[in-house]
Amino acid sequence: MLIKWKTKFTIILVLVIGSSLSGMGSYFLYRDDVSKHKFEVEKEFIDFRSRVDIRAATFDRDLDVNFEALRSLAILFNDGDKPDRHTFNQLAESIMARHSHVHAFSWEPRIGYADRAALEKQAREVFPGFDITQRNGDKLITASKRPEYFPVYYISPYLGNEAALGFDLASDAIRLDALEKARDSGGLQATASITLVQERGEHKGFLVFLPVYQGSQATVELRRKNLIGFITSVYRLADIFSHSAWSTDSRFEIDFKITEEISVDKKAVIYPSSDEEKLFNNAFFTEKKSLKKSYLYEKELPSVLGQTWTLEASSPKKQLSYKDFFGPISFFAVGMLFSIFMSMYLLQISKDAKGLRALNKRLDAISYLDGLTQIENRRRFDEYIAQELLRAIRIQSAMSVLMIDVDYFKSYNDHYGHVEGDRVLRDIATALKTVINRPVDLLARYGGEEFVIVLPDTEEAELIAARCNQVVRDLKIPHAYSAAASIITVSIGFETFIPNQGAQVSLVTENADKALYRAKEKGRDCAEKFDAQKPVVMAQQV
Ligand code: GH3
Ligand code: MG
Ligand code: MG
Repeated sequence: MLIKWKTKFTIILVLVIGSSLSGMGSYFLYRDDVSKHKFEVEKEFIDFRSRVDIRAATFDRDLDVNFEALRSLAILFNDGDKPDRHTFNQLAESIMARHSHVHAFSWEPRIGYADRAALEKQAREVFPGFDITQRNGDKLITASKRPEYFPVYYISPYLGNEAALGFDLASDAIRLDALEKARDSGGLQATASITLVQERGEHKGFLVFLPVYQGSQATVELRRKNLIGFITSVYRLADIFSHSAWSTDSRFEIDFKITEEISVDKKAVIYPSSDEEKLFNNAFFTEKKSLKKSYLYEKELPSVLGQTWTLEASSPKKQLSYKDFFGPISFFAVGMLFSIFMSMYLLQISKDAKGLRALNKRLDAISYLDGLTQIENRRRFDEYIAQELLRAIRIQSAMSVLMIDVDYFKSYNDHYGHVEGDRVLRDIATALKTVINRPVDLLARYGGEEFVIVLPDTEEAELIAARCNQVVRDLKIPHAYSAAASIITVSIGFETFIPNQGAQVSLVTENADKALYRAKEKGRDCAEKFDAQKPVVMAQQV
C-alpha cells in the first residue's frame, strides 16, 4: 500500500511538474511571439502612414497641375477679349488632352438682366433650347429675375455636360460664395464640394473659378467693377483622386475617404471610402471591434484653393493568426506528451513490481511445500515451530509435538520398489491430514519417511497420536516384510509441554525423537509420550 502511494505521488508529481514546465515554456514563447507581432504591427503602421503621406502629396500635386491648366485657357481672355465658341472649344480640348482629369472647361459671362434676352437669343442660334436656368430641388428651371447672371455659356466638352449649359452659377449659394471670393481676390478659387449639375451618379465634384476682367484690377472695387466673367474648370473628385493612386503596389489595401471642413466642428464626406458603411459612417467611433482591426490615419491636405480637405485612410491591421501560436502550442503539447509518457512508464514499472511481488509470494508458497506429498515441508516446520515456541513462552500455554515414522520402510522399499514407497508416503500424508482440524495445527514432512505434527495450545495429544496410528492402519497397505504387522504402520513419539524461558527448538525435536525411539522399542505401531524420567538407551537403536 505504501509503495502504491509512493507511485501515485510520484506520477502526480511528474504530471504537475511536467505540465507546469510545459505551460511556463509555452507562455514565454507566446509572450515572445506577441511582442514580435506588436513590433511588426508598429512597423507596418509606419509603412502605412508613409504611403498615405506619399498619396496625399501626389494628390496635392495633381490638383495643382490641374488648376494651372485653367491659366492656360485664360490667355484667350487677355485684355477683356472674348473668344468665339469654336476657339474656346479648340483650346479647351487641347488642354484636356494633357489634363485628362479636368471634367470640363466652361465660360460664364457676367450678364445684367437687361442683356439676358439678347444673350439667350444669340445662344439659341447654336443651341435652340438654350435658357438661363437655376435649380429647383432636383430640377432645372428657368432662372428667375435677378440683376446679374453668370450662366454657363461655353462648355467643353458639350457631350455629357448638356445639363450645365445655361445654368446660372450665381443662383447657387456655394457657387456664388466662391465666385465672389474669386472676383475679389483676382485669383483661383475652388468651390466647396458640390453635386455637379451634370452629375448622374453619387459623386461629388467641385469647380475652380478664374475671374476675367476688362480694365484695371488694382483694387477690390475695381475688380468688382471690371469683372466680365469667369472661366471655370470642373472636376469630379473621384476621377482626380483615383488618378493619384500608385498602380502596382497592392501590399496594403488602403481605404481612403476625403472630408471637407464645413465649419470648425463639422465635416462632410466628399469622397467616400469603399468600406464606408462598415468603417466610417456608423463605426468610426462606435464599432471599436472593426477599428481595432484597422490602421487609421488622418492627413490634412494643404489648402485646396480655399478649402480644407482631410485624407482619412484605413487599412486592415496585421492580425495574430493561429500560425503565431503554433510554436507555444506545440511546445506545450510535446511537454505534456513527455510527462504523460513518463507517468505511464512509471505506472508500468510499478505494475511490473506488483507482478514480481505476487510471483515472489507464489514462489514462497511453493518453497514451503513438500514436492512428493504436497504437505508443508521441513523448512516450513522449522519456521513454524520457532514462532509457536516463542508465542507459547510468552503466553505460557501448552503445546504438543508429534514425530511420526513409518515402520520397516526400508524393507518395504527393498521389496516393493521406490515408486510404491513414494505412493505409500503420499497416502500416509493424506491420511494424517484428516487428523488435524484447526488452522493453527501443522502437519509437515520432517524428512525421508518421517512426519511431524505441531499442535499449539494443546495439553492432551494421546488421542491425536492414537488417531494417527489408526488412520494409517486404516489404509490397509500390505507390508509382507514388516515385523510389526502385515500392513503399513507408523510409530509415534510425542510430547506436551509449557516451555520455559529460553526453551530451544532442538530440545523439542530431541525429546519427541526420544519418545519415538521408545515406541519403536515397544514393538512399533504405537505412540509413546516423552517422559524425562524414562531414559532412552541409544545403543539399542535398530
Ligand atoms: P524402522 O521401523 O526402524 O523405522 O525401520 P525403517 O526401515 O523404516 O528404518 P530406516 O531408517 O532404516 O529406513 C528408512 C527408509 O525409508 C530408508 C529409505 O529406503 C526409505 N525412504 C526414505 N525416504 C524415502 C522416500 O522419499 N521414498 C521412498 N520410497 N523411500 C524412502
Ligand atoms: Mg526413520
Ligand atoms: Mg522408519
